[in-house]
This record gives sequence, structure tokens and C-alpha cells, in this order.
Amino acid sequence: MAYPTPPVRLIDRFGRTVDYLRISITDRCDYRCVYCMAEDMTFLPREQVLTLEEIYTIAKAFAELGVKKIRVTGGEPLVRKGVLELLEKIGQIESLNELVITTNGSQLETMASDLKVAGVKRINISLDTLDADKFKAITRTGDLQQVLRGIDAVKAVGFERIKLNAVILKGSNHQEVCDLVQYAVDKGIDISFIEEMPLGVVTKHDRSEAYYSSALIKEDLARRFSLEATLEKTGGPSSYFKVVGTQTRVGFISPHSENFCSTCNRVRLTVEGRLLLCLGNEHSVDLKAVLRENPSDMVVLKQAIIDAMLIKPEKHEFNIHEQPVILRYMSMTGG
Ligand code: SAM
Ligand code: SF4
Repeated sequence: MAYPTPPVRLIDRFGRTVDYLRISITDRCDYRCVYCMAEDMTFLPREQVLTLEEIYTIAKAFAELGVKKIRVTGGEPLVRKGVLELLEKIGQIESLNELVITTNGSQLETMASDLKVAGVKRINISLDTLDADKFKAITRTGDLQQVLRGIDAVKAVGFERIKLNAVILKGSNHQEVCDLVQYAVDKGIDISFIEEMPLGVVTKHDRSEAYYSSALIKEDLARRFSLEATLEKTGGPSSYFKVVGTQTRVGFISPHSENFCSTCNRVRLTVEGRLLLCLGNEHSVDLKAVLRENPSDMVVLKQAIIDAMLIKPEKHEFNIHEQPVILRYMSMTGG
């Protein structure tokens, strides 16, 4: 009698199933956010960056190994030439349940409907402030109105879910948390607050002094909104609350104050083709080398991915009060 073969799954040493891949498709960006990049960045030469074809092959290998959700991010993913074709191809991988992107919103005004057509279901848009001057100061180059028009454009086109991401820094935008939630409520979309992570060296602020915990944000919000805890998970590290009487959910990504490593289900593909097993550690496998040494050999590629699970660390080692141990920026890693 023939038994059905069990579904393939990626499982690490701690029994965690990895079913979520984040891919940084470019280290380039039209912004230079103070917590993410230095003002003067040197970007990678083209030959060091995965081609779109290589990215697709790796995405397919992961899907064949049980990954159900892929997030395309960067740098700014929408500034890479060919991104729509890549999204369309990844979106057609049958076993994937979800294709999502994270963007700074600068290109959405013109790209919203193309993204929908390409098969993107959910969009995360970074928005740290509603004050145009502050927006310029945080992003160093960005135009707030352009992003707000982009948000309206994705709303008009209609996606399954639109979520804002806000990194909150004390002394910069911490007084705006209620206004940001009110904006999300008015637009009928969700919002997550992120504690800053010590990735790469930044010069504009002291990360320890700028630390503003999720607990403080919750206290601030409680003065204006009624938040109800939900058990909902969206495959990421956020814990969610519903704003009572509205459609809006508020998420908190709290790498410092609420460690979420025990439920970690994700790995990241860096722009250079390094499979990074943990955002807060350097454990990685060079999938670009595997792919370039064994062109179109899916068996070798998939085995390298399976083997990589053995070095996924138990938890991140972030310490906001020390100089970063992790010298790579979020833009290379895929936030
Ligand atoms: N450019 C896109 C954007 O800004 O949404 C996608 C890439 S960006 C690296 C992804 C997310 O990482 C953004 O929401 C950004 O705010 C967040 N981020 C960047 N650097 C961070 C840091 N040091 N700590 C926490 N979040 C960070
Ligand atoms: Fe660019 Fe996103 Fe980093 Fe800002 S957070 S510099 S928009 S990659």
C-alpha cells in the first residue's frame, strides 16, 4: 500500500518551522532614514547583487520546501528595475499563500494598480510621522505628501490588507503615536509600531537615548483609544490590538521589550544572496555561491537551504545600549 508523502517542511534545531521568507531585492533606496542608513552610503556593485532570475529561483526552492509567505523588501524594492515582473512570477508560484511587499511609499502613486495586477495581496508602508518637516528630517530626502498620495492610491486600488509601519524614536516622533493611529483609523488601515533595532552604525541619534518602548506607546495610546488584545497573528513578530469601534488593528514589534524569538518562523535572503538565519546574528549561508557554482541545480540549492536550518540561532542578541555588533544595515538585510 502506498502512503501519501508528508508535506516538506523546514524545521530548525529548536523545532521551529520556517515558512516565511523575506527577500531584500536591492540595497538601494531613494531615502536615507536616520535609523536605517548612513547619510553617505556606498551601494553594492551589480555583480554582487542577485539577479532577478536568481531571486526567483531561490524563492521557488523555498516554496518547494514548504514556505508559504514571501515578503519582498529592500532597500526600497520599488526602485529596482524589473520588480513588477519579479513579483508577478513569484506570485504565480502555486504553493505560496501570500506575496507581500514593504515599501517606503514613494512610488505607490504611480505603481499601485500595477502591484495589484502583479498579484501583491498585502502592502506595508513605512510612515513615521505626519509632519512634513519631520518626515524630511527622518528620511533625509523624502516628501510626505507624495507618500500620503501613495497611500490613497493603494486604498483606491484595494488590497487585502494595508498596514503602516512606524519606527518610534524618543525626542523625534514619539509624541505622534496617537495622531498616527488616528490617521490609520480614518483611512481604515492597520498600523504597527517598531522598536528601533541596532543594525549598522547611525550618526544622527543615540539609539539608547532614542529608545521608546512598546509599553510607553501603549500607555500613550490608552489616553485616546480603547485597545483590545487579539490573538491574531499575521505570520510576523507583531502582537495585535484592535482599536475598539474601528476597523484598525495596532501591532507592536518589540524586539527589546518582548522577545519573540521562540516563535520565529522566518529567514531572510540578503541582497547579496546570503541566507540570513536571524536578524540579530550573523549566521548565514551563501546561496548565491551555491547557485552560481551549480546553475539550475534545484536539488543542491534545496539541500543547502535544508542544511542551513541547523545553524539558525535560538535568539537575537540585540543590545540597544551598546555599539551595534551587527554592522549590516536593515536595507541590506530586508526589514
Ligand atoms: N524601504 C522600505 C521601507 O522603508 O518600508 C522597505 C525596507 S525597510 C529596511 C523595512 C522596514 O525596516 C521599514 O519599516 C523601516 O522603518 C524598518 N527599519 C529600518 N531600519 C530599522 C532599524 N534600525 N530598526 C527597526 N526598524 C528599522
Ligand atoms: Fe530606505 Fe526603507 Fe531604509 Fe528608509 S527604512 S532608508 S526607506 S530602506
